[in-house]
Parts: sequence; structure tokens; C-alpha cells
Amino acid sequence: MNFANGSYLNKRLLRINVGFLLSEGPGNARDIPLGFSQRIQIDDELYLRALTGQLTLTRTSEGILVQGALRVEHERECDRCLDPFAHQFALELAELFASPPNSSKSVFSVDGNGEIDLAPLLREEVLIEATYRAFCREDCPGLSADSCDKPIDDIQTFQNERALLNDDLEIDPRLAVLKQLL
Ligand SMILES: [Zn+2]
Repeated sequence: MNFANGSYLNKRLLRINVGFLLSEGPGNARDIPLGFSQRIQIDDELYLRALTGQLTLTRTSEGILVQGALRVEHERECDRCLDPFAHQFALELAELFASPPNSSKSVFSVDGNGEIDLAPLLREEVLIEATYRAFCREDCPGLSADSCDKPIDDIQTFQNERALLNDDLEIDPRLAVLKQLL
């Protein structure tokens, strides 16, 4: 399985027009089903294999509140054998898209075209999720003798060793992500 190549859906599809909801008063809401069963890009080097579920968009006095329960398949490396695989996880969203933009209320906002962009939000959630260890399958044997001769660069090996070392440590993954972003 090689995720590096191949076609994918444009992340533009993750923009949702909420202009109609903005012009309605606070308290109005809409349910929006999401159903992407194809590979979709959420950032330059970040892809989902599938994204399904339902969003509830609620007009509040501060903008649009996006809530939802999503099922995400994220393309990532197995922390044991380092092979790429599609990791499935549930994602609960509750995020304000401010309108007008207001950085003290939310980093996300409704843009000038009355659209919200889910891609940066998904990117953030997936980066947090990626700090958790995940395996291609429960009984993944790790780097077997067969795969020892395959090229693994030093950084990957280092990260894998660190992941193993960190096994017993309580590290808040959200802090780890913050550290990366900073
Ligand atoms: Zn594996």
C-alpha cells in the first residue's frame, strides 16, 4: 500500500457555504451529512482515506458553531512496522467559526464568501490524533527479519525508539502537538 501517489479529492470540497445560516437569526441550525469515501487532501502532505458522519451547524450570536460526530480514516505510519496504513478513529467536533472573525473567540472564522473551511480544523485534529500510537493491526509483529533490509532513514528509527521509550510516560499529546507547531 503506497499512499504517496494516486488521485485524491480537492480539499476545496471541505468548504461549506453558511451564508444562508448567517442571515437567519441565532438559534437556527442545519444538519449537514458528510460522506467522502475517497481519498481527500486536507493539507499539502496530509490526506484522509475517508470522512463520514454528520455535522450540525448552529447560528449563534458569535458566528457558526460546528458540532459533529465524524468517522475519519487517516493515512499514517504504523508505530510498530512503519508501514503506511489507514487508521480509523471517531472524531467529536465542537468548534466556533467566528463571524465576524474574532481571534479572541476562535482561530476559525467564516470567510468573506460566507464559507467555512473544514480542512484546517481537520488538519489540527488529525495532527493531535497522530501523536497517539497506532498499529496497522493489533498483532502487528513490528519490524520483522523480512523487512529489516528495507531502507529506513535514521529519523524514522529515532522516532520509533522514542515512541517505545515514551510508552510508560504520561505525556499530554495535545502539548506534544503544540510543541511541534511552535
Ligand atoms: Zn504494523
